[in-house]
Amino acid sequence: MTPLAVLMVDDSENDALLIARELKRAGFDLYTKRVDTAEALARELREHAWDLVLADFSMPHFTGPLALEVVQKANLDVPFILVSGTVGEETAVAMMKAGAHDFVLKDHLGRLAAVVARELREVTIRRQRRWAEAALETLAEAGRLAVEAPDFEAVIARAAELVVPRLADWSIVYARDRRSITDVISVASLPEIDRAGLEELARRYPPTLDDRDPLFGEVVRKRSPALSSRIDDEQLARLAHDDRHLQLMKKLELRSLMLIPQVARERLVGVLVLASRQRGRYSEADLGIANEIGGRFALVVENARLARERDEFISTAVHEIKTPLAVIKTAVQMVKELPPERREARLPTLLDRVDRQCNRLTRLVNEVLEVSRIDLKRLALIRTRIDLAELVERVVAEAQDISAHHQLRILRNDPVTVDVDPERVEQVLTNLLSNAIRYSPGKGAIEIESRRDRMEAVVSVRDHGIGIPTEKQARMFERFYRAHVGTPYEHASSLGVGLYLSREIITRHGGKMGFESMDGLGSTFWFSLPIAEEAQR
Ligand code: ADP
Repeated sequence: MTPLAVLMVDDSENDALLIARELKRAGFDLYTKRVDTAEALARELREHAWDLVLADFSMPHFTGPLALEVVQKANLDVPFILVSGTVGEETAVAMMKAGAHDFVLKDHLGRLAAVVARELREVTIRRQRRWAEAALETLAEAGRLAVEAPDFEAVIARAAELVVPRLADWSIVYARDRRSITDVISVASLPEIDRAGLEELARRYPPTLDDRDPLFGEVVRKRSPALSSRIDDEQLARLAHDDRHLQLMKKLELRSLMLIPQVARERLVGVLVLASRQRGRYSEADLGIANEIGGRFALVVENARLARERDEFISTAVHEIKTPLAVIKTAVQMVKELPPERREARLPTLLDRVDRQCNRLTRLVNEVLEVSRIDLKRLALIRTRIDLAELVERVVAEAQDISAHHQLRILRNDPVTVDVDPERVEQVLTNLLSNAIRYSPGKGAIEIESRRDRMEAVVSVRDHGIGIPTEKQARMFERFYRAHVGTPYEHASSLGVGLYLSREIITRHGGKMGFESMDGLGSTFWFSLPIAEEAQR
């Protein structure tokens, strides 16, 4: 049965009952209320969502034409049908011209159900068209936002504003920054909405990744938009987590709700909440476009986030590059000012210093280049078959030359043939070795193993250094992540991209990369590479 909320403007209880009986007989699941003054009509329209207004023509304290005016002023698209006793044809035509949707005589109530059904269909079509237009506008604006908005926070704030009042009375945007989809929250609302209540609702009851969450569970799990279109008090109670939650949703007059996941590059990066005080504001037919809006928002927000990360990276990189430059500059200055008799004694040390700083600069500049190349997916591999054991031997020996304080020991080095880009693999191993050295200040041994494990070769580097605190381990391979920032072990010339690049390189070879670490005791970083085909047999 179709649910139908009909507001009757009639002075006669009896007529109202007759009309109701007619509609029920036609199969509507009817809810009605009768009013017979302008004030009561205006109040009902404001406070409840009505599908339809049926008005009598002449009443003792009110008239059909005045009722029509009240409905039009309420600015709701509710069909208005005149149901009346005898009126002249001219009056009927005048009413239709003024905007009444139809006219049914009380003696011919048999027509009523068909008229109502038609008006309901048309109002749905009008509503959907309006929604689609507003949604397309929102999509276009979101595109503009991507180009115009100055930074990440501004993008999030403006994203929430984009949908009010177009698609919602109030909205919430949840978006991922570094950890979860609720890292940043922004809200927007019509002026008459209780803003503090909305802020509280947004912050106190955010989406969780819990499947059982009655509000967000399904959206987060299925990553498709969800809809509650006619929320009554009972349903509010079911959605609420606790009393306060219920109270807030009531205060915000939540009657229609749409939850839209923001998915970018197959990851859930946020949720967009659209809410309205009007029942039936959203419908199943809107879900397709809603999904598109979610996707567009996700892209805009993610791009803003990545752009910000890149800015931060560039400023770290520039900062890191300045330090060795300053050292070089000072050394050169000193060389220039050396009196001839001291040259011979001092020159080698100073040149060494310059040389070391040049190496450091080269490494930094290379990392900056690589990151941008990987971003653009342009890092090409030039593969050849090599003996991995030979590569390990050589790279470890070179690393040993650089650090006299650490003892690098190869504990095992199985002969295996791999089909790889040798320079890239060398880069990865060098990176692991130099991390092992850098993050084990003064604590000697570093052990290297390369073993054959069925179809794979696994290379590991173990140090007995400072290790990595457990809570930081999950983010080790993130781009620009530096686990020891703000501790005495924060190293100069560290950009937090070495591991990110290494894993990218290994993944492109079809291998894996990982680590185990204990805070204060040391770390073991490893990577695997597939063994070349005929070598497997
Ligand atoms: P970088 O060393 O240039 O900052 P990486 O991506 O190589 O960048 O490493 C990221 C972070 O991981 C480092 O900043 C450091 O905090 C931590 N790290 C890497 N290797 C080790 C290790 N062997 N022991 C302890 N911490 C490490």
